Amino acid sequence: MTNAIGILGGTFDPVHFGHLRSGLDVAEQFDLAEIRLIPAARPPHRGQPQATAEQRLEMLELAVAENKTFVIDDRELHRQGKSYTIDTLLSLRQEFPNSPLYLILGTDAFYGLTTWHRWQELLDFTHIIVMTRPGEKTVMPTALAGWQIVDANNIDPTTLTGKVYRCDVSQLDISATQIRTLLADNKSPQFLLPEAVLSYARAEKIY
Ligand code: ATP
Repeated sequence: MTNAIGILGGTFDPVHFGHLRSGLDVAEQFDLAEIRLIPAARPPHRGQPQATAEQRLEMLELAVAENKTFVIDDRELHRQGKSYTIDTLLSLRQEFPNSPLYLILGTDAFYGLTTWHRWQELLDFTHIIVMTRPGEKTVMPTALAGWQIVDANNIDPTTLTGKVYRCDVSQLDISATQIRTLLADNKSPQFLLPEAVLSYARAEKIY
């Protein structure tokens, strides 16, 4: 039984099928024991979420109640200051010293990686999985020229950190922004996110 852990961070304002289906695709292709969904308290690269931290957590709980692959991890919500991924990785590495860690990123997040706090050290603590479109060519940004990107066939389950993988995932053109806009315009985002999450967001009048 694998002990590999996937890490999917985000604002989750709200969580939707784009997050969940692609997370599951990665978990299955990389044979991960679990994916930890880690909501950011104060995302460094964007404005404050519309939903409170408690509401974002509750929506995550509702979204994955029926699925054992996903684990909700609220460690960033308990930390002061900005939510830096490097701090989260340090804390996960302490808790799981013998597990391969896989930080899961969309292509856009991967391309912006060099703006992240202490990005050069990320691979000392984790592997990275870049979620790609089938057939998409990942062009390595110049600043990452020393990094090599390989596919899931090259997994070495004994290495805990240091590799960059690509993983083709289902293409669902869904964003939390789109869902917030639909709700604000009194339109329906049904079928873009789990029904229980939508009911909760409506009941709490979050968006
Ligand atoms: P927003 O529209 O508010 O910016 P978002 O929908 O992009 O939000 P985030 O919570 O910021 O969601 O995303 C967290 C992570 O999930 C990021 O790594 C992002 O690339 C990934 N992600 C978001 N939407 C999708 C999607 N439709 N398919 C695959 N990955 C996604």
